[in-house]
Amino acid sequence: MNPPSAHFLREDLRDFAGYASARMQAGGARIRLDANEAPWPSAGDDAARLRRYPDPQPRALVTALAALYGVDDARLLLTRGSDEAIDLLLRATCAPGRGAIVTTPPTFGMYAVCARLHGARVAEVPLRDAGDGFAADLGAVGDAVLAADARLVFLCSPGNPTGDVVPLDGIATLARRLAGRALVVVDEAYGEFAGVASAASLPEAASNVVVLRTLSKAHALAGARVGCAIAPPAIVAALRRCQAPYPLPAPSVAAALAALSPRALARTRARVRRIREARDRLATRLRALPAVRRVDASGGNFLLLRLVDPDAALARLHEAGIAVRDMRAASGLSDAIRATVGTTRQNAALVEALAAAGEGA
Ligand code: PMP
Repeated sequence: MNPPSAHFLREDLRDFAGYASARMQAGGARIRLDANEAPWPSAGDDAARLRRYPDPQPRALVTALAALYGVDDARLLLTRGSDEAIDLLLRATCAPGRGAIVTTPPTFGMYAVCARLHGARVAEVPLRDAGDGFAADLGAVGDAVLAADARLVFLCSPGNPTGDVVPLDGIATLARRLAGRALVVVDEAYGEFAGVASAASLPEAASNVVVLRTLSKAHALAGARVGCAIAPPAIVAALRRCQAPYPLPAPSVAAALAALSPRALARTRARVRRIREARDRLATRLRALPAVRRVDASGGNFLLLRLVDPDAALARLHEAGIAVRDMRAASGLSDAIRATVGTTRQNAALVEALAAAGEGA
């Protein structure tokens, strides 16, 4: 019999074993001639670390991340950034050309991009704009999942670019409503900056909640491309069957392990606190500027700014050599930019440039 989680998987993949790589099969052999690797180190690599294919799911990193997020090892799949986890979820659950997902725009663009590439339909339930912040309408999200017979719903908490935090009790209620029907994916790429509990702690996470985490943001390792999906073990196993044989380069694994040492974690936590304080100070300063119409409270390491004259402000920022994310193409955000919280100096430069934009208005 299929385990309950198998409901979510594509029917045509239920007996699919995926690729069995040499590294998955290697026992304790002394002479390894099973993966067509070179017998010598790379001519350019004195340290000789990269001759072999890497472990697909290095145990030390799985264990360290599972401990960090407070979950069992069996619930954690390492991925090449959380971007890869989004793609794997689509591939494992949506039949190409037929499946559907639900998103809550304005939200992170990769959910729709991966759906499009996979031929899955996207049903949109826009976030509600209360005038001073956005919020997901989880009742409408549940209705849309059932209407579209979607297998996946992507909630982003804190939301990119809106910064809103989806309440955990709402996620739990939605997951219970969709039990056996759909996976509720909670993308917590910015979770550290929100200061609220992770959806991975919900009892519903045992059945149909998937949490995405990444080392790219709070842990300052965007270049290493290390993330993970936290899901029921049967879903972890299914995603793994869809994954490339060697998703995590060895130097990235080493960088991730270094970032997860007790000392490094203590530094990261202190830095996260600093970013949160700087974010809230920056929001207050920006709200006082004539060029800025609105700055919502944010649970992320960024702020969404609504501008009186976005063209003029963007021109000023460009002149000052400051890159921000132009959000004007996103639904409901025709006057918006998203700015990452940087160092004290960088934040001051942002305020200064936008203050100057107001003077010209
Ligand atoms: N989710 C969200 C909400 C993001 O903003 C991003 C990166 N911008 C990602 C996932 C992907 O992060 P990564 O692949 O670096 O883990």
